[in-house]
Order: sequence, then structure tokens, then C-alpha cells
Amino acid sequence: MEYRELGKTGLKVSRVGFGGLPLQRVDAAETKKIVKSLLDTGVNFIDTARAYSVSEGFLGEALEGVREKFVLATKSMARTKEEMERDIDISLKNLRTGYIDLYQVHNPNMEQLEAVMAEGGALEALEEARRAGKIGHIGVTAHSPKVFEKALTLPWVETIMFPYNVVERQGEEYIRLCQEKNIGFIAMKPMAGGNVENGSLAVRFILQNPAVTVAIPGMAAVSEVEENAAAADDHAPFSEREKEEMAALEKELGTQFCRRCNYCAPCTAGIAIPNVFLFAGYLRRYDLAAWSKSRYDSQAVKADACMDCGACEERCPYHLPIREMLKQAHTALEAVGKDEK
Ligand code: SF4
Ligand code: SF4
Repeated sequence: MEYRELGKTGLKVSRVGFGGLPLQRVDAAETKKIVKSLLDTGVNFIDTARAYSVSEGFLGEALEGVREKFVLATKSMARTKEEMERDIDISLKNLRTGYIDLYQVHNPNMEQLEAVMAEGGALEALEEARRAGKIGHIGVTAHSPKVFEKALTLPWVETIMFPYNVVERQGEEYIRLCQEKNIGFIAMKPMAGGNVENGSLAVRFILQNPAVTVAIPGMAAVSEVEENAAAADDHAPFSEREKEEMAALEKELGTQFCRRCNYCAPCTAGIAIPNVFLFAGYLRRYDLAAWSKSRYDSQAVKADACMDCGACEERCPYHLPIREMLKQAHTALEAVGKDEK
């Protein structure tokens, strides 16, 4: 396994890390096996989130006695100081540790990023926690290129996490700037939210970009850890067949795949369009039915509120048939649990 310095943090991380979201569909016993396989394969970076329900807790249990062998990262959607203080303490308790290496501001939009940095904002709590030795470093995760661009200019940002994969290359220029500014770059959604099925090829594609510090595929099985770790060690150039496979993927997904850039906003009816596609994608690809459904149910406005005005489609740079996709997503998400009733 190859290791890289995670930007300004100076932490040494394996080029493939562990994305903890899919732990929601396994149990504590399986998580222990997965953590053991991380040790066996040399994967030393673990990323989870307050928002991934049981993920932090399962990891905390599995990390008993081996926590020091890992660089541990988590994140919170808290935007105020008070909320962030509370979340950091919950993360520490869940992860059964006195110290988290990297704590990230989870996916803020531009306004939320400002709120995080304002007086009484979450950044104050993060900086205090760092001074108190509860956390080591501070980062940001984003889906919006605007937030990525802004984060590159903020001196407190030590790492940035952003989607990067065969079909989502919109961050490439900013990823290059991360390297220039010595900000650690963490590639999330290496499989494009489960849309890229050849996991090995997906990981190799990302890691051939030298500006990527670490890619964090979500994993929920020992076999996935082994496959991704092997892919990180495979430095062979792409064969013609693999190049064709990637080109075909780009073509196929390009017309139906939401990159969560949010350029389609604001929706006239108030639908959070990329969220709907995210939940439907996780339902379809990862079989995270309960998680997807509960997230969808918590949306203030559901997809069936679409008024068919078409404004979003005019703004989508990828020309996605948003209205049709929303209908399909709504039908799939509303069907969850119906069979059991
Ligand atoms: S077409 Fe539907 S989803 Fe798109 S902006 Fe109009 S109301 Fe919103
Ligand atoms: S629907 Fe289009 S504009 Fe909206 S977030 Fe997805 S890719 Fe971006």
C-alpha cells in the first residue's frame, strides 16, 4: 500500500481509505471483520459521519485496542458552535476515543459555510476542540464547485473532500489546486454513488491522478476492502479495453447521472433536486432502503410537488431530464416498505 501526506495535516494516509456510510447495512460483528481486513491490507484512513446513523458506533466498537493504528476522520452537519460542540462530543463517545484526527464540516452550501465561520459558528467549536486536544485537524466536505472554490481560499481548511470519479470530473482543476496549496484532497464517491460497477477500475482511475491524496470508497464487506486495496497497488496503465469501458460509462451515465452541483436550484416548487437523486441512487445501488426512505421522508418538499415548469432543466449543465428522473425517483422511494404493509 502506498501512503501519502494528507496536505497540511502531515498525517500519513493510505491512498485508499475506508468510507463508512455503507456500514448502515451491516452489523457490529461484520464491522469488526472489516476493520481487521483494513489492518491486514494496510488501509489506515477511516472516514465516517455523524449523519451515518450506526456507522460511528460500530466503528468505535471495532476499533477497541487498534484505534491508534488508524487516522480517524468524521464530520458533522452542525453549523453553530453549540451544535458542533455537542456533535464532537458524541463522535468521541461513539468512536470510543479521546481524539479524532480529522473533523470535517459536512457538506455546507455557501450560506452555511458563512454561518460556520461567523461569530458563534461551528468553526469556533472546532478550533476550541483542537486546542483542547479532542481533534487534530479541520476539513470541509462539499458537493458544490462553488464551495470547493471558496474552501481553497480559507486558511483554516486543511483537507477538502469532493466527489471525483470516472463520470464526475468537474472538480479536476480545483483538485490540482489542492496539491498546489498543500491541502489534502479526499476523493469521495469513487464509484459515482454506486453507479460504476467495476470498483477496481474506478479506484485505479482516481489514484492515477497525483493530486488525489486518498480515495474513500464506501465498503461493507471484507471482499470489497481486499478488492480496493489491490486496486490501489495496481499501477498498470489502462488497457484499450479498460479505456473503452470508461468511455462507455461516461456516455451511459452522462445523460442520467446527477453530479449534485446544484446549478439547477432554485426549484420553483422548493424541491431539493440533487437530494432526491442521491436518495434514489442509494436505494437502487446500495440497497440502503430504510436510510434512503427516511431521508426522503424528512425532505420539506417531495418530488411529486414538481410543477413541470422546466426551469431546472434549462439550468442543468448536463442536460438531465430532471422532471422525468424526479418522477421515477419519487415512485421508487414511495414504494419502499409498501410490500410489508
Ligand atoms: S420543473 Fe419541477 S423540479 Fe424543475 S424547477 Fe420546475 S418545479 Fe422544480
Ligand atoms: S440535476 Fe443537474 S444541475 Fe441539478 S444538481 Fe444534478 S447535475 Fe447539477
